[in-house]
Amino acid sequence: MGKLELIYEETLECPICHNKTLLVTDYIYDSGITGKLLLSSSSCSTCGYKVASESPVEVNEEKIIEIKVNNEDDLGTLVYRSGFAMIRIPELGLEDFPGGSSPGEITTIEGILERLIENLKDFGDVSKLEQAMRGDIKFTIIIEDPYGLSFAIKKNITQS
Ligand SMILES: [Zn+2]
Repeated sequence: MGKLELIYEETLECPICHNKTLLVTDYIYDSGITGKLLLSSSSCSTCGYKVASESPVEVNEEKIIEIKVNNEDDLGTLVYRSGFAMIRIPELGLEDFPGGSSPGEITTIEGILERLIENLKDFGDVSKLEQAMRGDIKFTIIIEDPYGLSFAIKKNITQS
């Protein structure tokens, strides 16, 4: 018999309709045979947007995800950033370290930029970030996850 453990549950803003009706849940599923899996799902009760994924938990290999952002569409790429992942944007000289005990979050590249602007605006110039958020400049976003839990999903891949 498998074991299912809820590790994260939160209602967040939906990346599609922007209502705060996106229920995000993460479960650890232990089948006892194949090792533990992280099951993540998000569903929006307003627009019906749904996405789900699973990834192995007991993989300790570092994973580096590189996403080239060339246009506004790429900004909508869904990203699961685990609580351990560091984010770098070399073109903007930016590094965002994981917040220690913070849980993972499902967001979009736009959401990551928004968060960075929020965190950095009191300390310096964020005009480059704002340009990036409008899709005015091309950049690369690099997610470095020492536990290999983070992943990215292109916006047009959804499951129902
Ligand atoms: Zn929605």
